[in-house]
Amino acid sequence: MACIFCKIIKGEIPSMKLFESDKTFAFLDIQPLSYGHSLIIPKHHGAKLTDIPDDQLHEILPVAKKIAAASGCNDYNILQNNGRLARQVVDHVHFHMIPKPNEKEGLGIGWPAQ
Ligand code: C5P
Repeated sequence: MACIFCKIIKGEIPSMKLFESDKTFAFLDIQPLSYGHSLIIPKHHGAKLTDIPDDQLHEILPVAKKIAAASGCNDYNILQNNGRLARQVVDHVHFHMIPKPNEKEGLGIGWPAQ
């Protein structure tokens, strides 16, 4: 299996894991756009959203909400790049949770702004 995210799920490549269930995996992005930038992915391998069965997607937004809440982050973007024209680089469906730090207060206790 050549998929880098499948290798991360299996633990063959190390990651900063934030959440795992039978269907879902979440970890910190290695090239964060902001402090706490996380990726939430279905364990089911598929390059595009249409490749993933609906029942494998149900946890994605609840997990993104949990991670944002746990980080004390109130302002963030959820982003899913789908296809090359949309700037998708990794061909395993993933949802970005990208915090928008408050310049004065950072992201809250434990997650200070860089
Ligand atoms: O949505 P897109 O495919 O462009 O984003 C892929 C994301 O996966 C990037 O933000 C990149 O930093 C991240 N990545 C990662 N760990 C890897 C390979 C890529 O966090 N080993």
